Amino acid sequence: KDMADARSGGGTVPNDLEALWLPFTPNRQFKREPRMISRAKDMHFYTPEGRAILDATAGLWCSNAGHCREPIVRAIQEQAAELDFSPSFQFAHPKGFEVASRIAQLAPGDLDHVFFANSGSEAADTALKIALAYQRSRGEGTRVRLIGRERGYHGTGFGGISVGGMPNNRKFFGPLLAGADHLPHTHLPENRFTRGEPEHGAHLADRLEDLVALHDASTIAAVIVEPFAGSTGVLPPPKGYLKRLREICDKHGIVLIFDEVITGFGRMGTAFGAEYWGVQPDIMTFAKGVTSGTVPMGGVVVRKHIYEAFQTGADHAIDLFHGYTYTAHPLACAAALASLDVYRDEGLFERAGQMAKVLEDAIHTLKGHPLVADIRNCGLAAAVDIVPQPGSPGLRGFESMKRGYFDHDIMLRITADTIAVSPPFIVTEDQIGQSVEAIRAILTSLD
Ligand code: PLP
Repeated sequence: KDMADARSGGGTVPNDLEALWLPFTPNRQFKREPRMISRAKDMHFYTPEGRAILDATAGLWCSNAGHCREPIVRAIQEQAAELDFSPSFQFAHPKGFEVASRIAQLAPGDLDHVFFANSGSEAADTALKIALAYQRSRGEGTRVRLIGRERGYHGTGFGGISVGGMPNNRKFFGPLLAGADHLPHTHLPENRFTRGEPEHGAHLADRLEDLVALHDASTIAAVIVEPFAGSTGVLPPPKGYLKRLREICDKHGIVLIFDEVITGFGRMGTAFGAEYWGVQPDIMTFAKGVTSGTVPMGGVVVRKHIYEAFQTGADHAIDLFHGYTYTAHPLACAAALASLDVYRDEGLFERAGQMAKVLEDAIHTLKGHPLVADIRNCGLAAAVDIVPQPGSPGLRGFESMKRGYFDHDIMLRITADTIAVSPPFIVTEDQIGQSVEAIRAILTSLD
């Protein structure tokens, strides 16, 4: 590389694939066979050559309103010209309050106070930190233990991976947060091929009682779960499970956190999973769909008593020592307001609820394929477990994603040998059918 060029910020190699280290990607393989996306509109991505790729995953479960929607694009453009940044500590701008009010209105019960971050990972860490600080502020400072769940995903911060339950996301990174423990996951073999929530498994919530017996309630600050586990392959909660968790948390003074990064903003057909399941957590995280994936934004919503527990110090004293330079960034706020308008004006949450049934019917037609080990669905999301290739776990999943892009013009999401689909809410019945037929063809093409 030319040093003068490098110093001046210029580059002699304008598109050096080696310069970018891609996350959660086999980089050597990708750079041999790049899967590029250069443009998007509504339900499609486009390759640099102009090939349309059906977005069966709403990007990464985030582009809920579809891509490059005109009102959202315009709002971001106008905001960039009006206020590009405003400090988020000690100062604020009006749209931050407006977005917070809109989210508080959508959130059930007295989940009334919103703290902004920039991603789901930051949202998860923010929720865990607020839970710890809340316990301390109410005189329960021995409650320092955080409980997550096997197969849970709460992003990639140290807090999130400590309570998360995906072994590869944890094992490389040292001892993690002291005292974190885990509930068992809810994927029971007897529930294979269940449509929606399984009847069996609510008793798994009672394992929280075992953790309380083991550690004592006085050491436990919070429990965090995704209402349905998304990243490990759409694991719906067994019927009654979330209610049971709520009861046990109440009994023992434990803060219940729902990580609604995927379930928030419509995927269950309601604004949040909490509303869908009729269970109110104490803290709820969100990200992704809040801006329909357009500008990074995440955050948490907390119940009134939690917010108020922090409002007790001297008038000039900071109430929570936490935050980010880009908290409530003006571009993210503009994008969020425009996204919430689109969701409301087009009835997109309701549409997601209707399409959920279409997806359920379509995806379960894959049952009986020799390579299909299980099928699950929850809201407008579904997953298919592929029988792993003996000796090469993950290979068939990886091949499925690759063949989707190169041979079937579809974007699929994989975790090991599980294919997930979670389309934007503007998806049509035909496009759901097309997605399932693409998966069928891909499975049939696998070795
Ligand atoms: N929490 C949940 C439930 C998620 O599904 C995700 C991302 O998929 C995250 C947190 C992390 O979000 P981000 O990638 O924006 O940090």
